[in-house]
Amino acid sequence: MAQRDYYEVLGLKKNASSNEITKAYRKRALKYHPDRNLDDKKAEEKFKEATEAYEVLSDGEKKAQYDEFGHDAQDLGAGGFRYTSGFDINDAMNIFMRDFGGRGGGSDNDIFSMFGGMGGSRSQRGENLEYTVSIPLKKAYEGGKVSITIPRTVDCSDCKGTGAKGGKLKTCPQCKGSGRIQSGRSAGMGQMFMSIGACPSCGGRGKTAAKPCDRCGGRGSRSERSNISVTVPRGIRSGKKMRLRGKGNAGGPGGPPGDLYLGVEVTDDEKFRREGDDLYRDIIIPFYKAILGAEIEVPTMKGHSRVKVPAGIQPGTKLRMKGKGMPRMGGKGYGNLYVVIGVNIPKRLSEKQRELIAEFERSE
Ligand SMILES: [Zn+2]
Ligand SMILES: [Zn+2]
Repeated sequence: MAQRDYYEVLGLKKNASSNEITKAYRKRALKYHPDRNLDDKKAEEKFKEATEAYEVLSDGEKKAQYDEFGHDAQDLGAGGFRYTSGFDINDAMNIFMRDFGGRGGGSDNDIFSMFGGMGGSRSQRGENLEYTVSIPLKKAYEGGKVSITIPRTVDCSDCKGTGAKGGKLKTCPQCKGSGRIQSGRSAGMGQMFMSIGACPSCGGRGKTAAKPCDRCGGRGSRSERSNISVTVPRGIRSGKKMRLRGKGNAGGPGGPPGDLYLGVEVTDDEKFRREGDDLYRDIIIPFYKAILGAEIEVPTMKGHSRVKVPAGIQPGTKLRMKGKGMPRMGGKGYGNLYVVIGVNIPKRLSEKQRELIAEFERSE
């Protein structure tokens, strides 16, 4: 199904200001927020759609990409943002909470105070984690599996993350199992906002532990050093971030885990310099080969290749070896390898060599 235009989703024109974008989103978010539309799938879908549009259009860089490429921006390899395959209701709730949630919601605290009690409702979801992994250039060339070890919290295995001893739950006495508590708040000018928030006792689950789990004390999670394996695409560049769903911290009892955002840093190589998808390598040849020309062997990322050095080459000349650079990430083909020629001038000469050079000088 074709995705709707982000501006259209928010009912805006293409030239909308950031203020208008925020306002339009806020209006829709309040109307369709799941906490005001319990069990209403259509509202949830609208809330999600509006939040995704807002997330892109409120971010200068993403907006610029979107304005230029439309939804295709999401498929751009390097630097493209990617939501089509994964933007879900949890993302939407988190973004809303991040920008408008609870305290610190900015100048519109009055309006948003109705979500004041909501903080706990979906924050059951575990925290996202951010780490950076360093890989050598060779790995970036080949792509493939990279293993990292990170500290994080995972579901307690004794209670399967429920926090309850033996996994036994009972109906929450405070909300009688609905998971929601209704309360009224004044919105000023004699108006009342009726809000429905998550039950603080059960965090919105409607159930609480009959007895807390002995191992985790009812938290439902424990700390560990997790070994996580991730596949890096061929040609990956420094600064690229990968999102690993569910590999963040464990959620609160019964809640889903957060995500892991893994940044990649490709370490500098001793021999090859990288510029985009191109590689550069210095090769020093004897002066007589520079004068007479030669065919030399050049180490590449995959082994060796031969390259012709024309007679009379000047130091610093770049020779292009087509397709011997880095794989183009998310695309076809390879960059180039440039051999930068250096010339070695001998410091010591034999009698005979000196005589030959002197003779050369006389001939000039
Ligand atoms: Zn436990
Ligand atoms: Zn409850």
